[in-house]
Amino acid sequence: MVNEKEFKEIIEWEGEEGKYVVSLYLDVDGKKYPKREYLINLKSLIKERKEELEKKKFSEEEKSAIYNDLDKIFEYVNYDFARSGWKGLIVFACSEKKLFKSYFSPDPVRNLLIVNFEPYTKPLFALLKQYSHLGTVIVDGKRAKIYHIHMGAVKLLADIISEVPDKVRTAGWQGYEEKRIKAHIQDHLMRHLKNIALKVKELDSLYHFNYLVMGGRKDILAKFLPHLQTYLVEKSLGEVLLEINTPSEVVMQKTLELEANFRKKKLADTISTLQLEANKGGLAVINLTETLKAINQGAVKILFVKEGLYRKGFICLNCGYLEDKENTCPICEQEMSHTEYLINELIEAAIQQDSDIEYIPEELYIDNRKLPEIGAFLRFKP
Ligand SMILES: [Zn+2]
Repeated sequence: MVNEKEFKEIIEWEGEEGKYVVSLYLDVDGKKYPKREYLINLKSLIKERKEELEKKKFSEEEKSAIYNDLDKIFEYVNYDFARSGWKGLIVFACSEKKLFKSYFSPDPVRNLLIVNFEPYTKPLFALLKQYSHLGTVIVDGKRAKIYHIHMGAVKLLADIISEVPDKVRTAGWQGYEEKRIKAHIQDHLMRHLKNIALKVKELDSLYHFNYLVMGGRKDILAKFLPHLQTYLVEKSLGEVLLEINTPSEVVMQKTLELEANFRKKKLADTISTLQLEANKGGLAVINLTETLKAINQGAVKILFVKEGLYRKGFICLNCGYLEDKENTCPICEQEMSHTEYLINELIEAAIQQDSDIEYIPEELYIDNRKLPEIGAFLRFKP
């Protein structure tokens, strides 16, 4: 994958009237497309866009520049792109301004082909946001390891070994002396834990961990956490039973599992807020008709859609107005056309109005059947 520096050109892109950028997001997952069937998808995306461009008012010059970039992208994907293990491909092209950039993602992306003055970067940033910087701290009585986990890679940052004396050799000693030795051990242990906490703080200022995971036995972690500063404790996603010698790949796997659960829970919480807000008539909607109404008026701030949701509906080919019931367009007073892909049209419209889009995974519906299939937080009341 890529680091944020490599996006500089894209982030700082200055749009220019008449100079169009083509942005492609292509799902190239080898599991779904063992024989590079994604080329077929790309072909139909390009065909769709060309048909759409024909309907819009572009000058011949603009059109030929865009067509040229579309063809260039196809050539690139067909001849130059080597999939290896990548599941997502992202390309930005604008020959007029000498731009051609491709990025690869370890996760699939949703197919999209967009022509605009500026690169369409939202899904790219959403993808990057998915990859948090995670710090995993494994603590035992004498040792500690701190790992950094980011974009599918794990790195050991620190291996701390402290001098903590072994459990008392008390034979013959009783009372006062035994207590003294115990206190001595406690003292060493405390210094060891304090040391680890300092190291976590130091590494956090370097790596800016989004989240921390605490690994180790419950009793040790209970003694360790009070040494950690509050803002670091607040970054903790929870505790996992990990040992100093747990292989780093396993450390990563366990850490990512904890993060995935956390994200699922967070999304579920956001959706219940959405439901509450909608039920009390606030800036939220939780059904298709209302969501369409909001989209038609450019009021959608964050769109929530169940993954793979499919609905038929109606679209005004003149202005893009969307409806779930047959109707005449209230804006152009034209008869609306039937569409097989109402949800796709809705998502496209959300993209056009710069809404954020959150896909709700199907598994979330297992625990909560009442979860809405579609909904949105609104910018204003439509
Ligand atoms: Zn219309």
